Amino acid sequence: MPQLAKRMGRAKPSAIMAVAEKAKKLKSEGRDIVSFSIGVPNFLPGDHVYAAARDALAKDSGQYGSNRGSDALLDAFLQHIEALGLTGYTRMHCATGIGAKHILYNLAEALLDEGDTIAYATPYWTTYADIAEVLNAKILELPCPASQDYKLTPAQLDAALATRPKVFLFNNPNNPTGMVYTRDEIAALADVLAKYPDTWIITDDIYNTMVFDGLGYHNFVQVRPELRDRLVFVDSLSKTYGMPGWRVGFMAGPESVAKAMTVLNSTHITNLPEVVTAAAVAALTGPQDVPVAKCAEFQAKRDLVVATMNAIPGVICPKPQGAFYVFPDVSCAFGKSHKGVAITNDVDFCSVLLEAKGVACVPGSAFGAPTCLRISYTCPTAQLPVGLKRIEEFFAELS
Ligand code: PMP
Repeated sequence: MPQLAKRMGRAKPSAIMAVAEKAKKLKSEGRDIVSFSIGVPNFLPGDHVYAAARDALAKDSGQYGSNRGSDALLDAFLQHIEALGLTGYTRMHCATGIGAKHILYNLAEALLDEGDTIAYATPYWTTYADIAEVLNAKILELPCPASQDYKLTPAQLDAALATRPKVFLFNNPNNPTGMVYTRDEIAALADVLAKYPDTWIITDDIYNTMVFDGLGYHNFVQVRPELRDRLVFVDSLSKTYGMPGWRVGFMAGPESVAKAMTVLNSTHITNLPEVVTAAAVAALTGPQDVPVAKCAEFQAKRDLVVATMNAIPGVICPKPQGAFYVFPDVSCAFGKSHKGVAITNDVDFCSVLLEAKGVACVPGSAFGAPTCLRISYTCPTAQLPVGLKRIEEFFAELS
């Protein structure tokens, strides 16, 4: 019997999807489930996006497209990043992919040899570890607990970069914590990055327009333009435009990296589909009222979740400023039990909460933070207080 390649022994299905699957199963059995698990925006893009897709379908060329991405899409992306404050990029600095996940995988393939080290802050988005493991890269985790608002400090970054990792991967606004770095915090980290010219920098900033409290989005290259030679900015339409299933991701960075990504596209996918491309251009260049309204809605939901969680004795819940996640430390519940069922860790906590109260959250260990859980609060507005009330009751019933 032939064997699978060794790397498949290291490949794991997403831990987040496992919770979502269990919640779905309980729902199909007739249980009333509130899902705070999967990180989907739960809104649809504006009508103009669908109109552009229909129009493209009517004019379908039936041909392969550009490996890098169509000129119209690259130009729309350039216009978008310029509005974010990333100026001076051209089409040759950019490439597209099947979502940011595909872009990140290809970046890892393009920048890391087997045994090279990739460093990132913990809590981290699960897929970072999954990608590194498949490619046999070494992982350097930089622990950022709730006591430091889950944010990386300049001293931590300095110590990590002194070990010369090949890649430093940064995520802002953050999944799973929702935290957003201020301009001053970005500047302080950028000063450290400037000291270590041999490390590639990837900023996975796909939630960049989903920032609350007027804090704004900031990138290292804005404060330290010299970092542009080795910084790759990653973006996606999935979350901010309510288009996760359309699978559109982007990168902007050094021309050599954009070229490598284009070559990998030619090997893996050839091109983004024409209809998807037209929808993506419309999303980026058309009216922005849907994403803007959703950002305001998520800010209000964030307030409710944080206030509820912080009112529970023992729970530590830093207040995030972006994305649509809240990441409370619930370790006060460990060692207790719910109606006789013991809770020893985050996985027990989420499993007992789901069984007993029908609320699905993702255990923090999926993100390298086993004292926490992730609440993704994009569910329909009426369901949010219902789910939160059940979590409050759950804590009150612990003994
Ligand atoms: N980066 C982060 C931080 C994410 O949360 C996600 C989606 N959960 C992605 C990248 C991938 O997004 P997509 O592939 O849908 O563009």
